[in-house]
Amino acid sequence: MEYYNEDSIVFLDGQFIKVKDASVSLFSQTLHYGHGVFEGIRSYQTIHGTKIFKPYEHFERLIQSCKLLNIPFNYSFEELTQLSYQLLEKNNFSSAYIRPLVISGENMTLTSSRESSLMITAWNWKKYFSNKEVSVCISSIQRPNPKSINAEAKVCGHYVSSIMATNEARQRGFDEALILDADGFIAEGSAANFFYEKNGVLYTPPKGNILPGITRQTVIEICREMELPLKEKWIKPEEVLEADSAFFCGTAAEISAIGSIEKHPVYKPWQSSLGYIVQQAYTNMVMEKSFAYVIV
Ligand code: PMP
Repeated sequence: MEYYNEDSIVFLDGQFIKVKDASVSLFSQTLHYGHGVFEGIRSYQTIHGTKIFKPYEHFERLIQSCKLLNIPFNYSFEELTQLSYQLLEKNNFSSAYIRPLVISGENMTLTSSRESSLMITAWNWKKYFSNKEVSVCISSIQRPNPKSINAEAKVCGHYVSSIMATNEARQRGFDEALILDADGFIAEGSAANFFYEKNGVLYTPPKGNILPGITRQTVIEICREMELPLKEKWIKPEEVLEADSAFFCGTAAEISAIGSIEKHPVYKPWQSSLGYIVQQAYTNMVMEKSFAYVIV
């Protein structure tokens, strides 16, 4: 994946500059202690032109993440959205991944910094849905305790456990990890929420120990609209081994089919699963097709 080239433009603290000319302090608290927050946002080349999917939800979460971490941040949702569209235009992007990152200022002590920087970068992302069904292991690594780092904030430091879990999954020969919460229930993937189907019902963990994903909420809305049965519940690891079907969902993952969990294949072919119906609706939604809820 190429994240930037000679000509790429980034927004950094009020200016659009070339990525190669951008710099941040080596003494930033984010760099040393992981005390920073970020977002992962997608734009799509829709039938109505370039559209950022759910910008309000993403930028509200960014603002909220800053509040939860006591990071000073003064941008409004409107400014952030406008800056992101400008960034896409300056880089000549349509289908892209947008990455705002709020970087805490210089401070090597352990009180919050009084300053922060905002960078927004983006890279080309043309591919929509991968057809590959992912193989998943149940990780020995748990999500951070939500009493230690608030699970609702998208905190840089949270992703240490995601990196460790993904490394472990690859070392064991799997594509992805299913990570447990601090109580031993299924939480989520390394960067995506988890749903599984059993006997015609979709199940997903409730909020509390997971990042409450914007895609997860979209899936919930699709299910409500299409009258697909869905329940939130605490899920024991052994339950998912018996899944009829399962999927991850997230801004980057979109709706990704899971083929097996700890080498137990799911029972249903993806095309006959509830997840497949959700996937079709989600594609239509992000592409702003008017027939969002029609099964194709
Ligand atoms: N969980 C984690 C740990 C994530 O990093 C992400 C990706 N942001 C998600 C879930 C899905 O969140 P969203 O749908 O808002 O991208």
